Amino acid sequence: MENCIFCQIIAGEIPSSKIYEDDQVLAFLDISQTTKGHTLVVPKTHARNTLEMTEEAASQLFSRIPKIARAVQSATQAKGMNIIANNEEIAGQTVFHTHIHLVPRFDENDGIAIHYTTHEPDFTALAELAKTISKEVI
Ligand code: AMP
Ligand code: ZN
Repeated sequence: MENCIFCQIIAGEIPSSKIYEDDQVLAFLDISQTTKGHTLVVPKTHARNTLEMTEEAASQLFSRIPKIARAVQSATQAKGMNIIANNEEIAGQTVFHTHIHLVPRFDENDGIAIHYTTHEPDFTALAELAKTISKEVI
């Protein structure tokens, strides 16, 4: 897609630090290097984000994640890894071509912090919400 920076990287029009490529998927180092080895895994076919992907496209993309993540972990000796996809601006998406972040983790002060606020569960509300969402799964 025109003006998409990741499509331009896939087309070789913009340089990247490639770590894996096949006919469907490309993985390259994130320029921000939040932690050492921070990698992006992208589908070669443009899609805005995970919310817009077909099952087939998502299967192809996600099936590559374990082997790329293991390679990043073994090369960096990371103790663990956050695997993150930001979908839409409210969720922190800044590049609108699907990408999965692999963020190797080394220690608690290594530059990334994810906080989830927890609420007291209302089990009746949970059951209703689960029913509502499950009806939307098509
Ligand atoms: P997100 O905020 O989830 O949309 O993530 C977009 C990511 O793309 C950011 O972490 C950027 O550092 C990264 N990024 C943007 N441009 C480039 C580039 N030319 N090469 C590698 N990573 C990039
Ligand atoms: Zn694109």
